[in-house]
Amino acid sequence: MSTILAIHAHPDDIETLAAGTLARLARIGHAVIIVTATAGEGGSTEHAPEVIARIRRREAAASAALIGASYHCLGIGDLAVFNDDQSRRAVTEAVRSARPDIVLAPSPADYHPDHEAVSTLVRDACFAASVPNYRCGDAAALEAIPHLYFIDPIGGRDREGVPVKADFGVDIEEVFPIKRAMLATHESQFAWVARQHDIPDHLAALEEWARRRGKDFAVAMAEGFRQYRHHPYPKTPALQQMLGDVLTPR
Ligand SMILES: [Zn+2]
Repeated sequence: MSTILAIHAHPDDIETLAAGTLARLARIGHAVIIVTATAGEGGSTEHAPEVIARIRRREAAASAALIGASYHCLGIGDLAVFNDDQSRRAVTEAVRSARPDIVLAPSPADYHPDHEAVSTLVRDACFAASVPNYRCGDAAALEAIPHLYFIDPIGGRDREGVPVKADFGVDIEEVFPIKRAMLATHESQFAWVARQHDIPDHLAALEEWARRRGKDFAVAMAEGFRQYRHHPYPKTPALQQMLGDVLTPR
């Protein structure tokens, strides 16, 4: 069985964009590790940063536990993720510690600066993780660069509103109740998302997004992915083969 490492910026990003696929992978016996760069301490008007950070770490761990996944937070500041030396070492250490076969990263183009920064950091950490002389923490260098995939951006669009096309989709209708339950653990975000993002019902918006992505693949509900296949990253369709029945965009 394989190990899948999903890294994003804030607690609840993975739930919104890729938890259905992770639920399917966990169900067929693969190990899933969820990492967020930040604890999302910006996401509150009621709590001080250190208080909401604790709450959100707890919510993310509870969400991951629903599919038997583990959760780790790198503790980088919310709205303070940059492609710099310290952060690249931190992300590389996380990749080495997980020893993944597959890595899921945020879309390179997305609405939030942390999402885009984490995307670059993860892409480069996958390369750096296999370089023995690049020193981070205690974890040993990987034997090879893992397979890298980009998750959909929020709303399926870049900052200018241009749709980001997926290479392939994953049918998540059957596991949607698990994905929904995972997002529901992020209770602290419901009021925040209503205020900051003008989304009065976070869970209804999740279902609406899953259905909208589903239309692109002619199924009820889907999540989209792009494989990063450029030199010297692996090009073989490892995740697609693991899932067995991926969807082609129509
Ligand atoms: Zn986010």
